[in-house]
Amino acid sequence: MTTNRNQAKPKLLVIGIDGATFTIIDPLIEAGKLPNLDRLIERGSKIRLVSTVHPMSPQAWTSFHTGVNPWKHGILDFFTLDITRPYTPNTWNDIRSVSMVELLDRAGIRTIWNNLLVTYPYPKLRNGIIAGGRMAPRRSLIYPDHLQRDVESLFPEGYEVHIDLSSVAKNGKVSETALLSKLLVHTEHQSRLTEYLMRTRPWDLCFVMFDATDIGQHVFWRYLDDKHPQYETSAPDLLRNAIATLFQEADKFIGRLLEAAPSDTTVLVLSDHGFVPLYATVNLNGFLVQAGYARPIRRYHPKRVLRGVFSRLQPDVRGLWPIYRKLNIKWKRTSVYANGYMGNIFVNLEGREPEGCVHPQDYEKILRKVIDDLYRWRNPLTGEPMIRAVHRSPISITQQRCLREMPDLVIEWFDYRFAGIHPGSFDSDFESGSPCYSHNIMRSADHSLEGILICAGPHFGSSSSKKAACPVSILDLAPLILKITGLSLPDHFDGTVPKELLLREADEMERQSKRLQGPDVSFPIDEEDYSSDELSQIAERLRSLGYLE
Ligand SMILES: [Zn+2]
Repeated sequence: MTTNRNQAKPKLLVIGIDGATFTIIDPLIEAGKLPNLDRLIERGSKIRLVSTVHPMSPQAWTSFHTGVNPWKHGILDFFTLDITRPYTPNTWNDIRSVSMVELLDRAGIRTIWNNLLVTYPYPKLRNGIIAGGRMAPRRSLIYPDHLQRDVESLFPEGYEVHIDLSSVAKNGKVSETALLSKLLVHTEHQSRLTEYLMRTRPWDLCFVMFDATDIGQHVFWRYLDDKHPQYETSAPDLLRNAIATLFQEADKFIGRLLEAAPSDTTVLVLSDHGFVPLYATVNLNGFLVQAGYARPIRRYHPKRVLRGVFSRLQPDVRGLWPIYRKLNIKWKRTSVYANGYMGNIFVNLEGREPEGCVHPQDYEKILRKVIDDLYRWRNPLTGEPMIRAVHRSPISITQQRCLREMPDLVIEWFDYRFAGIHPGSFDSDFESGSPCYSHNIMRSADHSLEGILICAGPHFGSSSSKKAACPVSILDLAPLILKITGLSLPDHFDGTVPKELLLREADEMERQSKRLQGPDVSFPIDEEDYSSDELSQIAERLRSLGYLE
């Protein structure tokens, strides 16, 4: 590896904790259970970090490393939302905006990236190491390839790169104690690999993301929240303390990573989104059916029965069907439908959708009507609005005709304790024809917009001088990191440097910073994405986590 940088420059350690929220962290710090995060906050600042809409890991982490909003980088879900394709995971090749992973590499900065989502197939970094996350296949855990041998000898027991709920299930029921053990091993593995790379390879910036906290909060929240509809008074302490245990484990390994870094290292700890209890899930397609926008195919309609029989006979073939053929919708009588996780609305537009029935002249009229109806929608359990904001696509209708994966509307829920989280592909969503407020035992909590940011080190003030800053956007992290590493910002970034967090002297760096060339960085990337076996493994994994039908 090569570098042209001044060796004496402080290093930067960036630690992601998937789904971390101060609601959980603050009481644990208060109780003395997260000593390493506590010390970082004491040395630096703690700030609320605003996620993307939706607050979902693939789009939020991609906004983190590209510095642009999801409409620009194009990652809006784990899977493509293009209904003319089968369920296909989004990959590095689908990201439409240049990443700071590339920008830093191009500037000669030596990086380590462990478990940054949607980075497979890996960019062939010249100065960096990139190790896979939830979406990487086991045969290719790390780039450069020769490090695969290091991973294999470091983990003779096998590297726990994925959490697959089906692996801890018996007769279709997940063993929560087995899951907790697996999540703890997963965190230890992520930390051990990162520490190994930090100690054996040269680096200027190291990123690792711990994601057991996310899965753990989805599953175990109901044990600590006595207002939760699925709260169990007789649950054992092991489950009641499971979330605390997972955060304590992450904190312990953060301590290990801090020890592996020089003492003047700048440290950022961030989450991609926050977490709230999920008191009821909402069926968005059911709402659209009830409001007359979507028309399901009747349950015993011959077409549907035949399709069901065929699927049972040929389940693998069904996996190759385009999404629109799997949805039991009368397309010619459906003007608006939802697809994907958390609330993406599409007009069934002629010339774009395969069986589009809305003429482009009527596009605006339909959109205005559905937006009005969404804003009128009330939560029957609280009487509050269901929707805080409906975000319209910034992409023109002409462009949208070739961008089938871009929704026309994205929903920001009023209260993420009651959110539409079903993929629109659930046949029952259409069939029920109602918003259907229901519970899902494996998702007793879900994502919210407000995550965490902790900053400590030479560029930041201490807790005594911190300005209890306003929330920062996750889009501002790439600008902040580029600034800390002495690089200028590309013009296309949506985020800006949150200067209020930095010491005045840090501002001086801007004058000395290097000029970056435009964002047209093109790195050689592996053309190969996934084999068909790997595709079905990824689908199975995400299905077990509830992200897919
Ligand atoms: Zn999650």
